[in-house]
Parts: sequence; structure tokens; C-alpha cells
Amino acid sequence: MIPLAEPTLDGNEARYLQECIDTGYVSSVGPFVERFEREFAAAIGAEHAVACASGTAALHVALRLAGAGPGRLVAVSDFTFIASANAATYTGADLLLVDSEPDTWNMDTEQLHDDVVRRAKVGERIPDVVEVVHVLGHPAAMEPLLALRERFGIRIVEDAAESLGGSWSSGGGLAGRDVGTVGDLGCFSFNGNKIITSGGGGMIITDDAELAAKAKHLTNQAKRPGGDYMHDTIGYNYRLTNIAAALGAAQMERLADRVQAKRMIAHRYATWLRRLPLTLAPRAAWANPTHWLYSLLLGDDTADAVRVVATMAEANIQVRRVWPPLHQQEPYATAECLGGAVAEDIYRRGVSLPSSAHLTERDQRAVATALTASLDTTFVAARDGTERG
Ligand SMILES: *Cc1c(COP(=O)(O)O)cnc(C)c1O
Repeated sequence: MIPLAEPTLDGNEARYLQECIDTGYVSSVGPFVERFEREFAAAIGAEHAVACASGTAALHVALRLAGAGPGRLVAVSDFTFIASANAATYTGADLLLVDSEPDTWNMDTEQLHDDVVRRAKVGERIPDVVEVVHVLGHPAAMEPLLALRERFGIRIVEDAAESLGGSWSSGGGLAGRDVGTVGDLGCFSFNGNKIITSGGGGMIITDDAELAAKAKHLTNQAKRPGGDYMHDTIGYNYRLTNIAAALGAAQMERLADRVQAKRMIAHRYATWLRRLPLTLAPRAAWANPTHWLYSLLLGDDTADAVRVVATMAEANIQVRRVWPPLHQQEPYATAECLGGAVAEDIYRRGVSLPSSAHLTERDQRAVATALTASLDTTFVAARDGTERG
């Protein structure tokens, strides 16, 4: 079985976990938490990092700190994993779902920009916060959001859960910046299928010392210092355990290798599959994506995606369709939307291919071969169907 994305645990994981047990630091206090935070911040060029129990928890706290709450409006990417929207909803905010742009599948930030300007002109409510997701490892186009922040004070939270190690390469002031470092706050996930894992966990990063201190405070039940059980607001138990941080610290040591491996996998897929009738994973000239899950668009028909997933499963290869847009998910069916047709098209035709960092070239070759065969069958079936019809 060739899985979609499995963790790669080939470093100091066991040693650091043993250290937790030997020292008794297994819970939410311990040296690995601080170390993971410090090394994470340094690696991606942020001033502060605050560890959290999950990526979703990180987003919840970051969005609240950015001003999301009851009566507020948060603009969220329509094409994303549902956690992005759930975290905003936990704050009590209303959502504005923003369609993808076809070039990177990320939030169409130009379209949002123009719509906010229009709303401001006619006196309609504008978003208080933009939660922009860097989907599947590809950085989003940030300039229109920076313009909105400048003009309207709209704060930016980056959901970089899938894009650790990604950066902007050229075309504007962001060249060389890592994803997560451009907004007011950036969030990451260390779930088992992400670029690095702590078993489960997340991180908030920011350059603002006050926001970082507030984030730390909120993740620890808003407990006042002094040990007197006094709390100044309603916080959360969102701390990361020392055990999880130990795993995370070991994984951090291999981050560069992981990102390099993902890029190599993407390069091979792009080379081997380029003659097939499909659209390869996006890669904008101004971006250095990490290609967390290598994903591409098949032909015009949903049936292709369904059939390809099934045929690949028969060959013991896990391929998965990409997420339905949020506006097609039951909890968000009535949310306000800006467009949605592009996200629907990506959902109709998109599939993700096995992308574990330790995927061997031989296994990857098997994936490419099986996909090629599966597409042949798909197109024959589609053609026969047309002839019959
Ligand atoms: C994985 C993911 C999250 C949530 O992270 P968890 O650690 O699983 O809570 C949030 N947003 C996106 C885009 C994700 O892919």
C-alpha cells in the first residue's frame, strides 16, 4: 500500500521522547516546549512562536487576537480544509467565503480587494479579519491583502498549516519571506500528515511581542501569573505537551530535508506526468511552494476523479479527491460567498497523489505508471460512453 502522506520519523524522536520519560516532564511544562518554539521561530524568521495543542487551536486563538468575534466578519478561503472555517466560527464571527483564483487555487485576493473597496463605497459591512490559507503548500498572493490592511485596517491571519517551508520568491516586497510571517499572525499544524509532526499540535507565530504574550496567556486558561488561580478572561486549555514538543523538536532538525523531499517528489511528478491530459499542480513564478500534497486536475468530468481514485485503490495506491469548497459543506451552506465557481471546478477535477517525504523513487514511479494506465481506462470509458450516447 502506498499511502497519501505518512510521517517520516528518522531522527532523534525516540531519544527525545525517552528524555521526557527519564526527566518526568511529560505534560504541558518542560524544556522541549520552549525549545520547539524558539527553534521554530528562528527557522522561519519570526520573532515569537507559541505552541498549541493543534493547528485548529492555533487558528482559534490567532483569529480571536486579530479581532474575530461575535458581530465581526472574517473572510476565509472557500477552498480549504474545514478547520480553517471552524476556527473562525468558534470565535462567534460570521464568515465571508472567498473563491479561489485558478493560478494557485488560493484565495482570489484581488477579487476580495475589489469587493471590499466596493462594499466600503456603498456602506456595506467589510471584513474585520482575513484568514488566508496557503493551500496544499502554495503561498497565496498577499499584496491585495496588504493593501486592505493599509487602507481599512483589516488584519491578516495566515493559515499556513500545509505550507511550512514555503516562501515568496520574487515580484514585490515579499521576496525571501516565509509563509506565515507576512500577516499579523501565522498558524501552523503538526498533525501526522503535515510537513512535520508532533503527533498533534500547532504553532502561532508573530513579530508582535504583545500578541505573542496574549496568545500564550489564552492557551493557558488565561491564568494570571502568581499561582493564585486568578484568571482575567475566558481562556483555553490549548497548550502543547512536552512529549509532543519533543517529537516536534526532533522533526524540526529535519525540516529542510522534508521540504527538499517534497519538492523533489513534485518535480518528478511534474516531469513524468506532463504529457498526460491533465493540469499539473500550480506553481506561480513568484512562489517557492512546498507541495505538501502533490495535487492535480484531471479532465472535465467528476466521474474521472471518482474512477481514478477507485482504480488507484485497486492498485494499492491511495489517491484522494481534494476538499469540497466550504460553501458546499453543510455547516457553511448559508455563509456569505464571493464567487465559488473556481473552487467547485478544482473540487470536481482535483486529486492528491502520494507525497510522503520518504516516498521512494520506485514507489513514485509505480504511482505515475498506475495513474497513466488509469487515465487511459478513464478516457476509453468516457469515449465509449460518448459513442454509446
Ligand atoms: C491541517 C489543517 C488545519 C488544522 O490543523 P490541526 O492540527 O489538524 O488542527 C487547519 N487548516 C488547514 C488548511 C489544514 O490543512
